[in-house]
Amino acid sequence: MGLPSLVWLSMPHSVLTIYQAVSFGLLTDRFGSYRLFQEQSMGPDMSTLITDATVITVDREQRIFPTGAIVIREDRITDVGPADLVEQRNPNVDTRIEASGRIVMPGFVSTHNHLGYSIFRGRAEDIGHTAIQGLYVPMSTILRREERAALANLSTAELLRGGVTTVLQMEEDADITAPFVEKTGMRAQMGIMASDISVDHLNQGQTVFDERVRASQLEQSITFAEHIHGRANGRLQAVMAANTAATSSSDLLRALRDTADRMDLRLSMHMGVGECDEVQNVHKTGVFSFARDNGFLDERVIAVHCYMVDKGDIDLMARSGVSLAHCPLMNQFRGAVAPVASMRSGGIRVGLGIDNYFSDYFDVIRSCIAVARIRANDPKVVQSDEALARATIDSAEIMGLGAEIGSLETGKKADLQIIDTRRYGLTPLNDPVRTLIYHGHAKDIEMVMVDGQIVVADGKVIGISEDDLIEEAANAGEAAWSRFADCHGGYAVQ
Ligand SMILES: [Zn+2]
Repeated sequence: MGLPSLVWLSMPHSVLTIYQAVSFGLLTDRFGSYRLFQEQSMGPDMSTLITDATVITVDREQRIFPTGAIVIREDRITDVGPADLVEQRNPNVDTRIEASGRIVMPGFVSTHNHLGYSIFRGRAEDIGHTAIQGLYVPMSTILRREERAALANLSTAELLRGGVTTVLQMEEDADITAPFVEKTGMRAQMGIMASDISVDHLNQGQTVFDERVRASQLEQSITFAEHIHGRANGRLQAVMAANTAATSSSDLLRALRDTADRMDLRLSMHMGVGECDEVQNVHKTGVFSFARDNGFLDERVIAVHCYMVDKGDIDLMARSGVSLAHCPLMNQFRGAVAPVASMRSGGIRVGLGIDNYFSDYFDVIRSCIAVARIRANDPKVVQSDEALARATIDSAEIMGLGAEIGSLETGKKADLQIIDTRRYGLTPLNDPVRTLIYHGHAKDIEMVMVDGQIVVADGKVIGISEDDLIEEAANAGEAAWSRFADCHGGYAVQ
């Protein structure tokens, strides 16, 4: 079977069912065949038609084509619309993928992630607001770079497989997580999550900012940004990131802001996550005024979480033009959820983030709807099409990528996912958006494309071994927690 499939893939005007195009099962040389397909797609003027699918565009008019088609040439969408019209306009495509029974829609965009934080699975979820000081910061001096890479590689594969085509990745040593992100084909804005407190003092309950730590963090942040920004056909970009106002000095934030201005980058920081008293003690002001006064509260900044905020904070955010990375699935487990409706009525732009819950973005979307309805005591607020927009185009816009990704429109980058609707949980389909949003799961995603390249086929990330990723991440977690226990006397955090 391998050779005929290879021939088909390289023939002009070849007709492939989606299974023939993306199923490993039909090909004896699985990775080799897909590589050939990818190379074919990359050639000059090579074109792919995906047809007979339900196409959910998430464009401004929220157009849905029940029998739709989309054409991709190199890395961009060149046509989208009703299948008969698109096929008439594009009679000579190189590869044709029959996608009946499938939904084609934009890839998900996650505006807040720490890829290596899969290390905290099963340790951080039940301990309330103490996770940052009790686990995250202490672990930052325990986890070795190669262990962080192993954990982040697993999360990256989980995200891609779940239809997430773009992430904002901020983390200690985020540089070590970049090569695998680049290799898999994911789109990302990445930054070192800087902090200049002394961890030794923190472990003794004191907040002390350390000039040497600051210098080293800034050097790592800037070196990484200069290395990564614009790589891989622009697929990788840099951001300047800080952890929280409680773990940052004014000097640190201002230096990060200066670099962002010089390189034209976005910035991001956790805010309103229970650090209010600490910030008042250390900086003698509020979280949001400290952020504002040090270059971390304006239209260039993505504020993360903001679930512990008062009306004054929301007013400050609204006046500043800052955007919100809303992570409802994470928020709900902390027992407090960002007041998104008030923020949006103040004009604050909102995107969605997975944070550390990598396995299924559909859970994040459903949480976004559920927490909004519980807060409002209204079962109709945040309709499913609005939630889908928040997970795609709205998130792209707050990352400054709205002109390039986030919807299926002619001229935009081809970042999309194909979902098989003929599955348990999705039948009868009835309404494609509602059925998918309320009943879909990562497991239903069949194919994912980023920048015109197929990166997931038949539900598997291309070019990696799932078994190896899982084993390496499990070993890394075991080793790191063993050293954590030796150093801190256990995992328990009060
Ligand atoms: Zn976070």
